[in-house]
Amino acid sequence: MEVTPNHTQTVAGWAAMDESGKIVPFTFKRRENGVDDVTIKVQYCGMCHTDLHFIHNDWGITMYPVVPGHEITGVVTKVGTNVTGFKVGDRVGVGCIAASCLDCDHCRQSEENYCDKVALTYNGIFWDGSVTYGGYSNMVVAHKRFVVKIPDSLPLDAAAPLLCAGITVYSPMKQHGMLDAAAKGRRLGVVGLGGLGHVAVKFGKAFGLDVTVISSSPAKEREARESLKVDNFVVSTDQKQMQAMTRKLDYIIDTVSATHSLGPILELLKVNGKLVLVAAPEKPVELPSFPLIFGKRTVSGSMTGGMKETQEMMDVCGEHNITCDIELVSTDRINDALDRLARNDVRYRFVINVGGDSKL
Ligand code: NAP
Ligand code: ZN
Repeated sequence: MEVTPNHTQTVAGWAAMDESGKIVPFTFKRRENGVDDVTIKVQYCGMCHTDLHFIHNDWGITMYPVVPGHEITGVVTKVGTNVTGFKVGDRVGVGCIAASCLDCDHCRQSEENYCDKVALTYNGIFWDGSVTYGGYSNMVVAHKRFVVKIPDSLPLDAAAPLLCAGITVYSPMKQHGMLDAAAKGRRLGVVGLGGLGHVAVKFGKAFGLDVTVISSSPAKEREARESLKVDNFVVSTDQKQMQAMTRKLDYIIDTVSATHSLGPILELLKVNGKLVLVAAPEKPVELPSFPLIFGKRTVSGSMTGGMKETQEMMDVCGEHNITCDIELVSTDRINDALDRLARNDVRYRFVINVGGDSKL
């Protein structure tokens, strides 16, 4: 059990203890609720593919035991004396960030995600030197800066994945002008129709873009067209379909969790088109120069979003009624869900029902 000073609260959670990746019940300590902190009873936690990468140590940086989970929603049970923005009973969420320096240029502009001292919600090092534990647990203590309000109109379960999947696609879409009125009718390609991908489709549709899904799963086409209302669906292994899309797209968001080449995807962009890579596969993606230089195309990256922008994204979802398509998982089925996520068998996000039937 990890114990550091002031870490006095006993919490029940679920952790992977080693690279075998099996999730087991795990009891650990969290810090007391400090003056700037908000304590949250966790009701729901989304299962991001990043959790799988960490659980299996895909990136070689996992500190076991790891308690995953950075798509957390719940209800405030305690607030510190310096906290004015939240009160007991509020419906709130916590995403990927537990702490940042609060003082650098990035933090001052609420780009906490790009602070070089950022501590992620799990597998991060908090200010006091302790390792952070995520939302696969009954309770979290979060600094007020890293808590967002969930609009009343959004259910806590289907809103949970917005805390990572949602902000991770919203932030680059906004940054690259895809959500501007001027972008209406422009063509967006979403590569990989999983957790991140399906929210990118929803933002694209809500803001008037013409959305093409590029997928390795032909079986996803019907639902994508009928319920997600995508304008076009291209099977990435079908050369004919891919060729027909050559130079058709203005933007691409790549969410493919497996190692892949950007070459064939870049060919789908118009001259000057932009590809945003948000996926983080285990091995480097291949970036051939010809499709890049012949089309004067741009490839960029993006990591989650800042806190101001995360609240803005939540509010946009509240206004447009954007929620995630989820499958609820009870806490004794986490391993089954992780197996299915690894097999690409989810439409489109598992969310753990951490709070069970308990209502606050
Ligand atoms: P996900 O729900 O598993 O979706 C990934 C999608 O990739 C799948 O639905 C599938 O779409 C496609 N895919 C999977 N295996 C494939 C394969 N072998 N070949 C081709 N396509 C394959 O994952 P997610 O939670 O959306 O996360 C996606 C990636 O983004 C992960 O690497 C994750 O770590 C990363 N991520 C990054 C950030 C960030 O801040 N940048 C934040 C969150 C997550 P199709 O069936 O349609 O092909
Ligand atoms: Zn995530």
